[in-house]
Amino acid sequence: MFMSVQDTGFEIRFRIFGIPVMVHPFFWLMALIMLGNGVVTVPDGHPVLNLVGMLVIVFVSILVHELGHSALMAWYRIRSEIVLYAMGGYAMPVGGRGIMRGLWDQVWISLAGPVAQFLLLGLVIVGVWYLPPLPPNRFISYQAMVFVAVYCNLVWPILNLLPILPLDGGRICQAFCRMFQGHYQGDITALWISIILGSVLVAMSFQYQQFTSGIFLIYLTIQNFQELQQRVGRW
Ligand SMILES: [Zn+2]
Repeated sequence: MFMSVQDTGFEIRFRIFGIPVMVHPFFWLMALIMLGNGVVTVPDGHPVLNLVGMLVIVFVSILVHELGHSALMAWYRIRSEIVLYAMGGYAMPVGGRGIMRGLWDQVWISLAGPVAQFLLLGLVIVGVWYLPPLPPNRFISYQAMVFVAVYCNLVWPILNLLPILPLDGGRICQAFCRMFQGHYQGDITALWISIILGSVLVAMSFQYQQFTSGIFLIYLTIQNFQELQQRVGRW
């Protein structure tokens, strides 16, 4: 179980709807780094409680995303495990009768994560619309919580649909490339699309001073370049 991520002894493990979930300590570390700056600028509430509130919202949002993938896999009779790791997480197929299914299933399973988040966003919007807002207080900032919930479940799933591997959009793009070009050539094409689009977005991120996404995209692009080198041999 969970062979691909190094064990540190600080993992949190539990099951939800029978699906094993592992939360790696890097998940909290990365979320803290990303939220740390923003929390200082929140005008009301207590900084520590605001940070805890935001962490819970990030955790629930990413978990719902991965549960979307896992739910569809379960529908296809594929068993899965969820890992929450730095910069997000993944739902990993680990067996079951449906494991060798077709490329359209890869498309639907990849779409299910962002769709689950859009549904959660719908719930948040309905909640904000119908429930009375919490007035400014010493404990928790209502505005900041709503902002983080909307941001996590609107911006992240949209970015996740970019055709860059191993994001969900990249997996969808890979499935289509495989349909048209076969497994091997399709993967090469999907990797090239990931690298070219990734490089363009790296340049744009730094131009618009979006350093966190810039660094994340550099990491993905290097990873995809190395993957491409391994597939086609060194040159
Ligand atoms: Zn996903």
